[in-house]
Formats: sequence, C-alpha cells, structure tokens
Amino acid sequence: MPSTSPGDAPRSPGREPAVEVTGLVKRYGAKTAVDGLDLTVARGSVTAVLGPNGAGKTTTVEICEGYRRPDAGRVRVLGLDPVADAAALRPRIGVMLQSGGIYAGARAEEMLRHTATLHAHPLDVEPLIERLGLGSCGRTPYRRLSGGQQQRLALAMAVVGRPELVFLDEPTAGLDPQARRATWDLVRELRTDGVSVVLTTHFMDEAEQLADDVAIIDGGRVVTQGSPEELCKGGAENSLRFSGRPGLDVASLLKALPADSAAAELTAGTYRVQGRIDPQLLATVTSWCAQNGVMPDAIAVERHTLEDVFLELTGKELRA
Ligand code: ATP
Repeated sequence: MPSTSPGDAPRSPGREPAVEVTGLVKRYGAKTAVDGLDLTVARGSVTAVLGPNGAGKTTTVEICEGYRRPDAGRVRVLGLDPVADAAALRPRIGVMLQSGGIYAGARAEEMLRHTATLHAHPLDVEPLIERLGLGSCGRTPYRRLSGGQQQRLALAMAVVGRPELVFLDEPTAGLDPQARRATWDLVRELRTDGVSVVLTTHFMDEAEQLADDVAIIDGGRVVTQGSPEELCKGGAENSLRFSGRPGLDVASLLKALPADSAAAELTAGTYRVQGRIDPQLLATVTSWCAQNGVMPDAIAVERHTLEDVFLELTGKELRA
C-alpha cells in the first residue's frame, strides 16, 4: 500500500513552538471558561490535553484553531495569530472536530476528495480510506455513517491535507479496538513525519501511549505539563509493596529506612513502603527481611500512573 504519511509535505523552517499560549482568558458571560492559561506545544511532538469535563480544553483548542476569539492573552500557532492570520494558517493545520462541520448529505469519499483538493500537497485518498476502514462506506451519505465511521472520516479529513499541525479532539471516542489501533498508528506516523499533534482525550492509556507531553487542565488553567514519565515521577511518591507473614514489626523496618520514608501493614501480611524508591531502599528492605527471617511471597515496585497524577491534581477521575 502506498504510504499515507505526510512525510514529503513542505515544512516551514520556523523554530518557534507549534503552539504558544500565554495568559489566555475566555469568558462566556459571567462564566470564566479559561482563566490565564499557559500552554506550549513543541514542534513535532504529540501533546495530550487532559482535563475533567468543563475544564476549558475545547475552548482553548478552538481558540488555537481560530474558531473563537480570546478575551485576553497571546496565542501563536505556527508563529501566527489564529484569527488575524487565519487565511495563512488554515491550509497548514488540520482540525478534527467532535462533530459538525460536515454536510449531512455528502458522501464520505466525496467529502474526503473535496478536502484533498483544497490543499497543495494532499495525501492519496484511496490508501487513507483503506487504512481507516472506510472502504465499504465511501458512497454512504455522512448522516448514515455510524458514529465510529463519522469519527474516522473526520480524522481522515484532518490529515488529508498533510498539515504541519493537527488538532484531534477525542479521536478514538466510541471506536472499536481495531479502529482505535489504526488511529493510534496514524498518530504515531504523523509524529514520525514531524507533524505536531494536539490531542484532547479522556483516555489515560491513549495519553500514555501516544503523548510526548501531557498538559492537565483544570478550572481553565494548566495545572501541570510534562512528559508522562516526568508527571508520574513528580506526582506522589512511588511505593514498594511486599507480602509476608502478618504482624511483622513495622516500627523496626521504619528505623532501617531513610528518614523521609513511611511503612505500613496495609492488610494482614501486606506491607507498603513509601518514599524514594531506589535500589538502595530495595536493598535495605530485603536485608531487613533477611535479618528478620522474612521470605516475601511477592515484592513489587508500584509506580504512579497518569491516572493517579490526574486524580491528585484535579480531585476528579477522568471519565469518557
Ligand atoms: P468537556 O471535556 O466536557 O468537553 P472542556 O474541558 O472541553 O469540557 P469547555 O467545553 O471548554 O470544557 O467548557 C469550559 C466551560 O465553559 C464549561 O463550564 C462550559 O459549560 C462553558 N462553556 C463552553 N462553551 C460555552 C458557551 N458557548 N457558552 C457558555 N458557556 C460555555
């Protein structure tokens, strides 16, 4: 199959970030939806924007796409102002909306071919249709497509013009596992080809799998931004868990550990050590076990996930 990657797209040599948002404010009447938000999206990276419902993600992304005007703050997308420079910017970005923007009576393939003609260096439509599993419904009117098919068509339309930057809003919501995987593969290819991707998602595994950088938004602000590894490291402490006979002397274990550690018997025979979990601490715990005749049934280092970090920062669970 011919490549559907946007590898040979002409690139601007600009070194500025793909997206740079500073002090963004957006109000809807008395409601402040975005409240002094700062966000940077590096060129060629996949940045996942996560946040609970109503956090201000869509508003922020729509301002970056030029669909809404900010009340205050500075927004630069590929170095341009999304509203004032809309004509120059539109051909260089791809936008996948959750819904809307597509004429209900238009046939899927027709829409995609039409979108391709609006760009100077579009992808080949046929292979794109095949890989997103739209082959069987190319002649189906948009309104008769299933939710998943509409979703995949919207993704195809966002990337067919070989954009330098793509905004994907919940790209895999409602997709079956196979379509989800195809979407992930496409996003990975975009990144390999140097395309910058901004992804809003409710799926933590999607962010963990795809994102170089994660921005967590809550109450209209970015509360933290970093790689999934950085965020998980910088969040709560990791812990070490082991199981042995119930009623071990936790106080004596604690004495052997560094001062900032904690140790507890969580349930009968299950112990958790918290603190800086490094090889030295592991050695301390195992040598304490040896001195006390304890043979653990299991010993495991538990790392915090993005889900944990999200919950700690927002107090909410991320639900689709
Ligand atoms: P979700 O995950 O539910 O899509 P979100 O993080 O994308 O949420 P936004 O859609 O940006 O959040 O909404 C932020 C806040 O602004 C919410 O309280 C929402 O109700 C409000 N809001 C969004 N659009 C409008 C509008 N057109 N008029 C009035 N209030 C709005």
